[in-house]
Amino acid sequence: MAKEYDNVIDFTLGDPDVPPHQAIKDAGCVAIQTGKTRYSQNAGLLDLRKTISNYYVKTEGLPYDAFNEIIVTVGAMEGLYLALLSILNPNDEVIIPAPYYVNYVQMVQMCHAKPVIVDNPKIKDLSFNINDIEKAITDKTKAIIINTPSNPSGRIISIEKMDALATLAKKHDLIVISDEVYKSLIYDGVIFRSIVTCDGMRERTILINSLSKEFCMTGWRIGYVLAPEEVISAMTKLQENVAACAPLPSQYAAIEALSKGKEYSAGMLEIFLHRRNLLVEGIKSISLLDCSCPEATFYLMVDISKTGMKSEQFALELLKRNQVAVVPGITYGKSCDNYVRIAFTLNEEKIKEGLKRIRLFIETL
Ligand code: PMP
Repeated sequence: MAKEYDNVIDFTLGDPDVPPHQAIKDAGCVAIQTGKTRYSQNAGLLDLRKTISNYYVKTEGLPYDAFNEIIVTVGAMEGLYLALLSILNPNDEVIIPAPYYVNYVQMVQMCHAKPVIVDNPKIKDLSFNINDIEKAITDKTKAIIINTPSNPSGRIISIEKMDALATLAKKHDLIVISDEVYKSLIYDGVIFRSIVTCDGMRERTILINSLSKEFCMTGWRIGYVLAPEEVISAMTKLQENVAACAPLPSQYAAIEALSKGKEYSAGMLEIFLHRRNLLVEGIKSISLLDCSCPEATFYLMVDISKTGMKSEQFALELLKRNQVAVVPGITYGKSCDNYVRIAFTLNEEKIKEGLKRIRLFIETL
């Protein structure tokens, strides 16, 4: 619908407008020009897997073996899909706590398994309840997918909740797929801890990550998965039939990006931090709207409950009347219907214009 209007401020995309660091682009170009344009091994270039392994030791203190415990994928998306394909039998159940990234549901369905969404409309603060998760577990439950920091909430799962989730996973013999693609976009020194670091979790955790958000490389399509050897081995066999390998020039660019890490991504974090502050301040100053400050990611959930509208109606009216596109919270679960999601993947000028239009929309309701 947004495409039908001219001059829309589009706050819907999880695709940042910030370019990757010049050295990363150069590494991709050099790869193309020197003929590094063929297939790689299904699991990805060994040099890249070694770089990922070193990166995790350096940044998280987590040792993963480059030969057996890492696979390079076509973005985190393919990593998630291959991981699910490798562990699920038809009719297995996968628990997905709300707010959730909608693709999880579809991917589980594509594996002929059943997504079990844990979404309690009584919970109004964009989090989930451990008791609700335990109640959803049956003898068919194979896995649970968590996303921390979360798209859309911008929150990090607390250490206490993470410990409780780990205890549940061990008690019920579940695999945890932990989507951590936003873990490099954390503000104000908030501490992030992966569930894999909880006692006894390494053997049952599949870590999903990518370069899309960390280095603003969405279209380069490089993701990776760290997991026990059996899972990586199954994923590698599936990779042969799905994509053969991730694009080779992008794999060379990824080696450059991950070998420098923060040196290339710190500037982006600064940009997003500035935009976040601008938006939070702007939204809070508009009557009837409210938000809490996201700890991470480039998403802001705007509380619209005082407008008396539900999320879809709010988004449609805002688009029709003032040409601003936002995502209705209902997309992420019933408990999010009092919210709309704004992505701060647009430049400051557009953000200011968007805020101006949202203010006008509210004032003329
Ligand atoms: N997980 C989450 C939570 C995301 O928001 C996204 C991208 N929007 C992805 C995975 C996929 O990222 P990639 O570009 O690495 O496939």
